[in-house]
Amino acid sequence: MNILLVYPKYPVTYWGFQYALKFISKKASFPPLGLLTVAGMLPDDVEKRLVDLNVSTLKDTDILWADYVFISAMVVQKESVREVLQRCQNLGVKTVAGGPLFTAEPDAFNEVDHLILNEGELTLPLFLKDLANGNPARIYTSDQWADLATTPNPVWNLIDQKQYSTMNIQYSRGCPFNCEFCNITSLYGRIPRTKSATQLITELNALYDSGWRGGVFFVDDNFIGNKHKLLHEVLPALITWMEAKQHPFAFLTETSINLADDDELMCQMVKAGFDTVFIGIETPNEASLLECNKVQNKNRDLIACVKKIQHFGLQVHGGFIVGFDSDNAGIFDSLINFIQQSGIVAAMVGLLNAPKGTGLYQRLASEGRLVEGFSGDNTDFSMNFIPKMERSLLVNGYNKIVDTIYSPQRYYERVRVFLKEYKPCKTTAIPVTFNQVLAFLKSMIRLGVFGRERVYYWRLILWSLFKRPDVFPLAVTLSIYGFHFRKVFKKSALEI
Ligand code: SF4
Repeated sequence: MNILLVYPKYPVTYWGFQYALKFISKKASFPPLGLLTVAGMLPDDVEKRLVDLNVSTLKDTDILWADYVFISAMVVQKESVREVLQRCQNLGVKTVAGGPLFTAEPDAFNEVDHLILNEGELTLPLFLKDLANGNPARIYTSDQWADLATTPNPVWNLIDQKQYSTMNIQYSRGCPFNCEFCNITSLYGRIPRTKSATQLITELNALYDSGWRGGVFFVDDNFIGNKHKLLHEVLPALITWMEAKQHPFAFLTETSINLADDDELMCQMVKAGFDTVFIGIETPNEASLLECNKVQNKNRDLIACVKKIQHFGLQVHGGFIVGFDSDNAGIFDSLINFIQQSGIVAAMVGLLNAPKGTGLYQRLASEGRLVEGFSGDNTDFSMNFIPKMERSLLVNGYNKIVDTIYSPQRYYERVRVFLKEYKPCKTTAIPVTFNQVLAFLKSMIRLGVFGRERVYYWRLILWSLFKRPDVFPLAVTLSIYGFHFRKVFKKSALEI
């Protein structure tokens, strides 16, 4: 049997880093980890190929080669999903679909032949068994959570790693918190499920043996959901492994803000090779934090927490939201000031949306405030509910935030605020690559000669070169990120 795994295209988004990737001659940020893991669950005698539409094209001959086309996708990839499904239908090839998009809205995909919903470790084996017996059903679901010990290694040889800037890996699923707008707990539960240190090291060895050196993203919903296991089992093993392998990877992940409460945890993460964390800060407005049940962010000095994390050697990328019922017209300036003071360079500010399966979705449905329009990209000015604040005021205020924080002056100011606070760890030993040198040269031309940020760019480059050479590569990277963020938000603003 031939199975073609297809990863649909995602649009230009904040997280896609498409404009930045051009500087380092890469086509996508991350490979499709879900499909690579699904490939590991398929029987050995199945022929497998993978086409990631973010790095290559899907030919009719690829589809016709397959007995089944497997698709996995997030909501933001919906448009490309429809196209792929249509092509498979036209060519008479059966489709099998799973992942967050299909689990959230199975009824919206009548054209799919087989839906493998919820966690693949539980539902895919049922489908494969029925398929082998010649009677596969249309839908497979489960109300259980998978044991991650059963998750196989991703099949890395199905992709060309050179097309991606960063590899990814998963250590845990689920999150102990329960923010009202977040669908993680409905998809993966509130009790974090984790892999053992041995399993994680086996996966890292496989990634190492595949030849990869560089960034590795732990795609966990909240990496520190089980702090005890991290501190006593996983991070010590990771530190030993990284030392033995001479620090081949730099890790980034997602955590909650209570990381700042644990000095030992931050120390160990940095020692293990983590240099960046994404944290959902959401808002400086206490009433909005209460409204969305973001209890871990309440009653604390959020800026001090961010600075503490930066001081330990971790760059903080932050997620922010406007459009809560408790927001008033003052939120826009207050958020701008917060972001500038915090030195969160990569600040993803989005309009509140209500994904299916969340408490927010239920509440808004009961209040009769839901509307169409959930795109999965909360930076594209879309909203799927009627906000309390007048919508034009909200959209204008949102526009003002992104226009301000990504203006060259304010952006580069913020980079300096961050770099002054940041104490990078000196243990990572990833050599400078030709692509990185090329990226610097491209940045000199694109940003330093033609960019409207050229004055600020050169000030930062010269400052870091002479005053903080230890952060010079990061200063170049952040300059390139700034270019991407400006272009993404400009594009979104033009499209509304
Ligand atoms: S902390 Fe993050 S992952 Fe956890 S429920 Fe809140 S938004 Fe979701």
